[in-house]
Amino acid sequence: MNAIKELKIYIGIAEKISEAGTCKRMKTGAVIVKDGCVIGTGYNGSAKGDKHCLEHGCDMEHGHCVRCVHAEVNAIINAARSGTSTVEAKMYCTHRPCHRCIKHIINSGISTVYYLNDYRDNRTTEVLINTGYINQVYQVIKEKLHEDIHRD
Ligand SMILES: [Zn+2]
Ligand SMILES: [Zn+2]
Repeated sequence: MNAIKELKIYIGIAEKISEAGTCKRMKTGAVIVKDGCVIGTGYNGSAKGDKHCLEHGCDMEHGHCVRCVHAEVNAIINAARSGTSTVEAKMYCTHRPCHRCIKHIINSGISTVYYLNDYRDNRTTEVLINTGYINQVYQVIKEKLHEDIHRD
């Protein structure tokens, strides 16, 4: 499978799974892939059994909803629950990870992150620069994926 096709498929899975997100403000999705296999998926949602933003409204702190476990962390947890190592895996996200998620991603050993939509968080950039992880995070250009879809 070529690189563009891989991006198209896994970003597509991340977008699809984001539909399950339970926050009113934003729905995000993440997929972890290792050796061509999906080893973890996640969307932003409450802790199991807790209230959901969709029914109870968002739990706001400093302009952000803090109720949900973010998609990226849920995907890592998802792999951990089945005992699968995330070391050297790739992550595909609907959005640029926030500064909290990026720390989890770095420490989980994930080697590369691809994301579709930008999400402004200057603290993410700071972490990326400090850790040297900045060259391991790439934005996927949506139009480029479509170009290649038609070329197939
Ligand atoms: Zn919310
Ligand atoms: Zn996050």
